[in-house]
Amino acid sequence: MTDISPRKLIIAIDGPAGAGKSTIASRLARKLGYVNLESGAMYRALALKAIEWDASFEDEVALVKLAHDARVELEPTIGGNRVLLGGRDVSARIRERDVTEAASRVSVHPKVREWMVARQREMGAGGGVVMEGRDIGTKVFPDADLKIFLDADPGVRERRRLEQQHAKGPSAESMAAELRERDQRDRTRANSPLVAAPDAVIIDSSHLAEDQVLAQVEGLVQAALAKSPVEH
Ligand code: C5P
Repeated sequence: MTDISPRKLIIAIDGPAGAGKSTIASRLARKLGYVNLESGAMYRALALKAIEWDASFEDEVALVKLAHDARVELEPTIGGNRVLLGGRDVSARIRERDVTEAASRVSVHPKVREWMVARQREMGAGGGVVMEGRDIGTKVFPDADLKIFLDADPGVRERRRLEQQHAKGPSAESMAAELRERDQRDRTRANSPLVAAPDAVIIDSSHLAEDQVLAQVEGLVQAALAKSPVEH
């Protein structure tokens, strides 16, 4: 008898900070019954470990060793990923500013990325996954069934981020500057810079409500499933 269960897609969502990736990825995964994996959380967990072990963000060898010794687990939940580092829940800690900044520094190293990409491939290989990050469609899953590049104007992304963090006054200004700097670093690094894959569908969310973005993405998922709907 032939198995005709629906095909479990690999969906890649890439884009800069503040474009709305995490929200869309987690809502989409919930609707499809897929798992949502935030690849950025892995770089953040490594960055936290580097901070705690007082490792230099420039020392690629030390960072790779820390990565090898780290046990990072992503547990998809309704509100995003719960992140465990060596069994400890670091979900809130890794969203703080020092870790955010450190994550974009440790992620520039090719050997660190190599290690991360290998883990991410293992995690998503079976399909039924929405993975979000910066290089999912270009590096981690170049053969993903659907690639979305979610973008928005820099001003809009800054505003969204500051609202999320309830930042005001001078603290908001310095956070906005950090976001611009991180963006620039992600886009210009030599290894796997943030760039849309040639076959990615680019969605500009600057003037779209979250529900409108989700509806577009769901339409693309249906089209991808229609191409080859079942598993044989
Ligand atoms: O997505 P998030 O903001 O949590 O990512 C934190 C940092 O991790 C990014 O600024 C980027 O430098 C790095 N990152 C990456 N590749 C990914 C995901 C995140 O380089 N696939």
